[in-house]
Amino acid sequence: MSDSLQDKIEAWDGEAVVVSYDKPTGTWIFIALHETDSESSIGGSRMKTYDTPAHGLEDALRLGEGMTYKWAGVGIRFGGAKGVMATPGPLDEASRDGLLLRYGKLVQSLGGRFRTGVDLGTTPEDLLRVAETCDYIVGVADGHSEDPGPFTALGVFVGIRAAVAHRHGDGSLAGRSVLIQGVGDVGLPLAEMLHDAGAKLLVSDIDASVAAAAAERFGARIVAPADVYDTEVDVYAPCAIGATLNPDTIPRLRCHIVAGSANNQLLTAADADALHDREILYAPDYIINAGGAVAFAGLYDGIDDTSELNARVETIEASLARIFDAATAADESPMIAARRVAEQFLSTNGDDAVA
Ligand code: NAD
Repeated sequence: MSDSLQDKIEAWDGEAVVVSYDKPTGTWIFIALHETDSESSIGGSRMKTYDTPAHGLEDALRLGEGMTYKWAGVGIRFGGAKGVMATPGPLDEASRDGLLLRYGKLVQSLGGRFRTGVDLGTTPEDLLRVAETCDYIVGVADGHSEDPGPFTALGVFVGIRAAVAHRHGDGSLAGRSVLIQGVGDVGLPLAEMLHDAGAKLLVSDIDASVAAAAAERFGARIVAPADVYDTEVDVYAPCAIGATLNPDTIPRLRCHIVAGSANNQLLTAADADALHDREILYAPDYIINAGGAVAFAGLYDGIDDTSELNARVETIEASLARIFDAATAADESPMIAARRVAEQFLSTNGDDAVA
């Protein structure tokens, strides 16, 4: 192992890192177990080609830690973890297939200390393949793979309600305008929920046919992708790509609330302060987009009743309300408050846990 891999692992504050080299495909595998005091650690499995294996390790360490704070932020007693398969380049179908089966064996050998599901670069079908050699896959049951999108959308929907309630003292969405950027797996079911709640919908998508279909279905106004940041609206819901909140876009925003599913919405941590300075309420992305993860953890625990899973996802509303209240009390960004609330949860060992 090169010094840099060793240095990164030694400097990390997590509990354990599993490093494996898959010789047939030349793939480095890193499983970062950040917080394992709890019964089990859960995080997705990512497949990606990095410049160097050390970058893949870095991603696993960063994302594994992030998962600890995601679980704690929504008040669930799981540890954080992440699996990364750092491939040397694109793999043909047979090589990919073999890698997934061997990855499953590796996860299986951890005896449940790490449970995993779909993430960037892996598909639900991939996870079904991994499940052939591993019992610790979340979101897969009886050879069928669940779609996390609608659960994530529900978490965003109740998160928007929490933000509106915090801002206006009343969580009703009737007549509130919401611009959904990206009407895909999360944005589309979110549009339906908002429509049913009486919100005024605006939609934007780089795929014009997707935007047109959503506009027709929900009577929404279409906003051109380039105009998203200059459009006056109550809530901007980023549900497409990351880094849309940055020094170029934040001064242009004409909304009171940013609340959407996209991962890594802030370009840098300073952008959270910039939103706070502009009095725009920001729902921390890793909390508001936790619905799929929460539901999959419930599925793994044997809950197959959709209304029970939805009830778990809906606890995101109370979690965000707590974070917004803490942020307002300390006159700071909800991003900082979320970290503090999660740290409190971890230090009390999850006494208020819902799972
Ligand atoms: P998706 O690929 O199904 O949908 C994304 C949509 O955004 C597509 O319709 C695409 O055309 C559109 N899009 C892409 N770039 C755009 C741009 N610049 N402007 C406007 N539209 C654009 O993805 P998804 O599963 O709905 O996920 C959306 C976001 O939420 C991603 O950032 C994802 O990482 C995050 N997320 C998703 C889940 C989940 O359960 N699917 C969970 C947590 C976080």
